[in-house]
Amino acid sequence: MSGLAKVILNAGKEQSPKRFHPWIFSGAINRIEGTVQDGDVVEVFTNKGEYVCTGHIQNGSIAVRIFSFQQVVPDESFWKEKIEKAYNYRKAIGIIGNKETNAYRLVYGEGDGMPGLVIDYYNGSAVIQAHSVGMHSEKEKIVSALKAIYGDELKSVYDKSKESLGDKYNEGVENGYLFGEDNVKQVLENGNTIKVDWEEGQKTGFFLDQRENRKLVGQYAKGKKVLDCFCYAGGFSLYALRGGASEVHSVDSSKTAIKLTDDNIALNFGSGAKQTSHVADAFDFLKDNQGQYDIIVVDPPAFAKHRDARHQAVMGYKRLNALAIQGVKPGGLIFTFSCSQVVDKPLFYGAITAAAIETGRTVRILQYLSQPADHPISIYHPEGEYLKGLLLFVE
Ligand code: SAH
Repeated sequence: MSGLAKVILNAGKEQSPKRFHPWIFSGAINRIEGTVQDGDVVEVFTNKGEYVCTGHIQNGSIAVRIFSFQQVVPDESFWKEKIEKAYNYRKAIGIIGNKETNAYRLVYGEGDGMPGLVIDYYNGSAVIQAHSVGMHSEKEKIVSALKAIYGDELKSVYDKSKESLGDKYNEGVENGYLFGEDNVKQVLENGNTIKVDWEEGQKTGFFLDQRENRKLVGQYAKGKKVLDCFCYAGGFSLYALRGGASEVHSVDSSKTAIKLTDDNIALNFGSGAKQTSHVADAFDFLKDNQGQYDIIVVDPPAFAKHRDARHQAVMGYKRLNALAIQGVKPGGLIFTFSCSQVVDKPLFYGAITAAAIETGRTVRILQYLSQPADHPISIYHPEGEYLKGLLLFVE
């Protein structure tokens, strides 16, 4: 009736979507009635003809990304309502309308009922990353929704989907402004001024997911000598200095990242900050600077993007954290993280335990760390949890 192609599931395969899990795997599909192209909206039915859900179809292991469990017409008002919900949720918990912070993740895929879509908001500019062809094809409706929600506050919308769509699906896709143009590329995060370059920077331009953990580093930093490994824009370094650190060393292998760190330190503290930046491999830097630091932050990029790289990744976390645990001063703290979705909490904690054993030092877990509330995890989609960390006290 709707004119949409129908995906018919194998018997029993409706159990997962009936528990609101938002993915249909290709193996669950019996047949497709109608013709489909990557990105089309489809309706999913049981093998007995009962409607189950609606989503975007795409060739691959995750065949349908579900955005509704009710029959709907995904028009402009549908997406506006969805994005408005995401906006209102963040307003309700104090992330939006906050005087100290004007950068946050507005839409986090499955966590906001919009699989395949990420929108980060940077002080008047929205940066979109579509991870599915379907979400990318909704972009004009998404821009209209953003304009309606933010009004004059919205100065530009930048589409940065070329990388997130992946080489298989990004032919002919270029990053660029969908609305407005280059706007002030500077945000406020818990009172820290931060330059964000979404055009040239990594991911959408900044790692918003460490906001709470950076704050925690700031709270422990007074009088301490701090090492910020994998510093990117220097987020942890800024909070450490604001928290009264006696000295901060920031390390990243990318020259562009270190330039960004230097700019951010200067923006916040002028030229007199007790901070130095180092373009270096963090493993080597840790090896060469043992016994110097009271606090070490270890926030590497995802060591594994796929399951087959998981073992290597775990070995990497172990080696890196052994260097940090071995190297921190007695009574020191380590903030250690993994953002690899395929390395889950038990695996990551296991790698840190193995690292601690190797050093023989007494190590306590002060706190379990995670991702902030603007990266929400749907209770029906535990895979949405990707950032995990530990705060360790090392004797
Ligand atoms: N801590 C940052 C985010 C880190 S992202 C924040 O709070 O925003 C990971 C960073 O690690 C990137 O900037 C990347 O350039 C850097 N990197 C990757 N491999 C590295 C290595 N071997 N040594 C040092 N830095 C590395």
